[in-house]
Amino acid sequence: MLKKLESYKRRNNEIVERDLEFYLNNDYKIYPYYEALRISIIYGIIGALWILLSDRLLGKFITNMDIYIEVATYKGWLYVLITTILIYLLVLKRVILVEKTLKTIASNFEALSANNEELIALEDELRKKFEELEKQNDALLISEQRYELAVEGADCCIWDWEVEKDKYYFCVNWKSYLGYENDEVENTLQGWINLIHKEDKINVVSEINDYILSDSSSYESIYRMVCKNGEEKWVLSKAKAIRNSDGKIVRMAGSHTDITEQKLIQNQLNSLAYKDMLTELPNRLSFELKVNELINTDKNNDSNTKFALLYMDIDNFKHVNDTLGHTSGDLLLKYISNILKYQVKAPDFVARLGGDEFAIIFEDIKNRQEIIDKVQKLIKYLRRPWVIDKQEFFISHSIGIAIYPEDGDNLSTLLKNSDVAMYFVKKNMKDNYCFYLQEIQEENSKKIKMINDLRRAIENKEFNLFYQPIIDLNSEKIIGVEALIRWFHPIRGMIPPMEFIPLAEENGLIHDIESWILETALMQKKQWEDMGYADLKMSINISGKSVTREGFINEVKDFLSRVKIKNDNIQFEVTETALMNDLNTSIKVLREIKDMNIKIALDDFGTGYSSLTYIKKLPIDVVKLDKDFIKNISKIEEEEVIVDYVIKLTHQLNLKIVAEGIETKEHLEFLKLNGCDYGQGYFFSKPITKEEIEKLLNIG
Ligand code: C2E
Ligand code: CA
Ligand code: CA
Repeated sequence: MLKKLESYKRRNNEIVERDLEFYLNNDYKIYPYYEALRISIIYGIIGALWILLSDRLLGKFITNMDIYIEVATYKGWLYVLITTILIYLLVLKRVILVEKTLKTIASNFEALSANNEELIALEDELRKKFEELEKQNDALLISEQRYELAVEGADCCIWDWEVEKDKYYFCVNWKSYLGYENDEVENTLQGWINLIHKEDKINVVSEINDYILSDSSSYESIYRMVCKNGEEKWVLSKAKAIRNSDGKIVRMAGSHTDITEQKLIQNQLNSLAYKDMLTELPNRLSFELKVNELINTDKNNDSNTKFALLYMDIDNFKHVNDTLGHTSGDLLLKYISNILKYQVKAPDFVARLGGDEFAIIFEDIKNRQEIIDKVQKLIKYLRRPWVIDKQEFFISHSIGIAIYPEDGDNLSTLLKNSDVAMYFVKKNMKDNYCFYLQEIQEENSKKIKMINDLRRAIENKEFNLFYQPIIDLNSEKIIGVEALIRWFHPIRGMIPPMEFIPLAEENGLIHDIESWILETALMQKKQWEDMGYADLKMSINISGKSVTREGFINEVKDFLSRVKIKNDNIQFEVTETALMNDLNTSIKVLREIKDMNIKIALDDFGTGYSSLTYIKKLPIDVVKLDKDFIKNISKIEEEEVIVDYVIKLTHQLNLKIVAEGIETKEHLEFLKLNGCDYGQGYFFSKPITKEEIEKLLNIG
């Protein structure tokens, strides 16, 4: 029975499932009124049939009233039972269906609400996405605006070139920027190229072609464009290209930026970097670039070119600066620069290296004669007098020449060797030029050796002082001596002072040497004083370098106090060129020397720049007329006139005068006749040892 019920239930369930499926799949509708009516009618029909048939059947078979009543009661119960079962069955199916439906609805509802949640989440996400998009859109808008502003502000133009169609687009505002109407410039590449400066055009076209053929990713070029009004604008053109699968460019797009201002600044900076501000000549950097370029071109092309490098220095420029002032010095530099600018024509090149030094390149030289011709022509112009404040000055130059490649195949060697040659001119002749020679270099090596020897000379006691008598021309008696140094080199023998004093001055060795001279001469003076020759003057040559050296005065004071001699018979000889180096300091020091009661003689008078009126400024006692004037006495009349004039003027200035280099009786006679105070020279005596002086004094 249970099994049957189970199977019934299962079957019933199956039916319900089927029905439900049917309902769901066929969109079947339940009609509640119809369903209720159907059940009621079934119930009604069964009820009616039961009433009609059961009583009749019962009446037929049961006649006994009591039994009939009893059976009727059972029949009533049976009816109730049957109808109950029937209703149960009829209702059960529907209720199960309703239950299933409700469950399905419920589960669908759950699914739906889950879906709904998903939908809500999705909606949220979508909203967020939308907001994000909006933000991006805004940002894009801002960046577009910013870009537009930037393009406008930066004088920038965007261009786009469809290569095959040759459609060239560029902003209209850029056309108007260059001063053109929109239709005045064709929208093709050629239209743009037509606006490029004629000097840059070929270059730009070849750069574009090169780029098209290359596999480079970006293009960049700088050139000038010509505005409608003729004005030039510098443009920086940048681009990138899109290539097809064959690598061929189909489209190029990029920007043009006006860089005129930057270019102007760059040009100014360049001229600052490459030009000498005072003379407007190319400067040292330009010069170095030029020489390196010439050398590189020659080396790369194997062209065997020769060029000459001239190193030029104005002689005694420092004196011009010191005596006439720096402004005049600058004027002189400009004056010289102008001569060089006009006389040195391209491809030859001239630059100011600094100070009073200039460098000239004579390009493509065939032979030495060609250089000589050019230099001589140049010197002719440089020797013309320079006029300032209605005064004429004769300016001379020393020029050293080195030839590429024989005197050096690089900048530094060429510079060094031309400088060596220039220095040789300066030392030996001035106002001239000289080619670099191996010999000069050797001479320099000798000098270096000599400097080393000189360093050891004091320690080795290789120096000696000789004395040349100074004669009173009236009485022809010795009134003093000039101390003159001698160097007895162990190998080279006696080296004259002119060969080592300037060298010692250059290298600072003069300090030690001169200390030795001072000490030796003062001690000698003291010795002679002690021997009874207290009136004998001691004249000591002082190097120009020493006069302005700090501590010089103290050193002199120190020596004097140690030796304890009468100061008024001591005389220092200084050359005018030495004083000119630093006139103000020199005057100060000379005053201090005079305060110590030491006399001062202006040595080598007439060889330098100063004039007699200029001497007035100097605190001196004696003028020593250079031997160059004396040697021409009785030979050149004009020189005699000068000597006579100098003696007279010196006396007018209350100074004494000493004539140097008296070699003949004629010299002596002339000088005596013209009132010269003192004299010295081979006519009386050469510089001699102290013993020889003593002999002379004993005789005297
Ligand atoms: P300076 O001061 O003009 O010296 C005179 C030079 O003329 C000396 O040459 C002397 O020997 C030379 N001399 C003298 N009489 C005659 C003459 O009749 N005819 C000719 N032709 N020459 C004559 P020195 O001794 O060779 O000195 C040359 C220069 O070296 C000096 O010229 C001086 O500038 C420098 N010097 C010499 N000794 C010293 C020194 O102890 N200290 C310094 N700082 N310089 C010195
Ligand atoms: Ca002297
Ligand atoms: Ca002299």
